[in-house]
Amino acid sequence: MKTFHNPHHAGHAGQQEMFRGRMVPCHEVPARLDFVLTELQRRPLGDIAPPSVDDTALDAAIARVHSARYLDFLASAWSDWVAMDPANAQRDALPSVWPIGNPHAFRTDVLPRNFAARLGLFSFDSGSPLTAGTWAAARGGAACALAAAHAVAQGERSAFALTRPPGHHAGPDFLGGYCFLNNAAIAAQALRDAGHTKVAVLDVDYHHGNGTQTIFYERADVLTVSVHGDPATEYPFFLGHADERGAGAGAGFNLNLPLPRGTGVAAWRAALDTALQAVSDFGASALVVPMGLDTFEGDPISGFTLKSADYAGVGQALASLGLPTVFTFEGGYAVDEVGTNAVNLLEGFQRPA
Ligand SMILES: [Zn+2]
Repeated sequence: MKTFHNPHHAGHAGQQEMFRGRMVPCHEVPARLDFVLTELQRRPLGDIAPPSVDDTALDAAIARVHSARYLDFLASAWSDWVAMDPANAQRDALPSVWPIGNPHAFRTDVLPRNFAARLGLFSFDSGSPLTAGTWAAARGGAACALAAAHAVAQGERSAFALTRPPGHHAGPDFLGGYCFLNNAAIAAQALRDAGHTKVAVLDVDYHHGNGTQTIFYERADVLTVSVHGDPATEYPFFLGHADERGAGAGAGFNLNLPLPRGTGVAAWRAALDTALQAVSDFGASALVVPMGLDTFEGDPISGFTLKSADYAGVGQALASLGLPTVFTFEGGYAVDEVGTNAVNLLEGFQRPA
């Protein structure tokens, strides 16, 4: 399994996020990736290299899943933030005002000139600090996803986009949940564009992959499946229910398998089996797995109880589909264990049955 790691990831290092009325240290920290990289070097699964992707091809691949207006916003966000007040150079950008979704409440078609308003327009939470290095890190991550998709399209059985910030909460025109560009969606679209007529995305992060669902919600060529904490109590709260099955041409091509907080490995694996059956029934010829490790019992912001030894079995179950597979690194905040758990899963996938 080839691993493409993002050499720019550490440039995105938020200081604090807003959590229930107070500023707390960020959970999504550069050490997360370093622990995975260190463990991959200790238990090698294949080549590890930064992605080599042409800038024009990268911009085109990102623009396949994100709106031009959103990408323009992201590209100049940091300089616009500092232009508001030179002192902002020392502070992360976080939104504090949002256009709530009532159709007669607020306009979202008019782009505000005030950057603080634009930041709210393109965000859905105040937990995702945007920093001086965010855009370069997010673009570097998209390059990892694209390189991984290309490797798989060219015949590799699997590839791993080892990057942060993560991506699965980022939608066509919004950031949130520590995510800016949707790496899994970029990989899935790149696989489609490389000739795979049906691609499945199976999200195993603790949190619902809302951004990916939104991006492909009206499409029949990309099946989106997510096994996650029930949004009635778990982030991102406003999407991820079982009755969201897709719309228009995409009706029937989204499957959510929400589980209650506290779910253990047996019930989680049963839901995974349902997800695998859906991918198999769909007839996908390639798979993308947004790989979150925050299903782990020790995760500080999640509520399932998988143990480190369980992840090899998860990898083996995913491998049973027999599909060329791209993994993207998503959540997982028990920093010491995230490396072990990630490599356990990937090693399980790679190990012959
Ligand atoms: Zn998560």
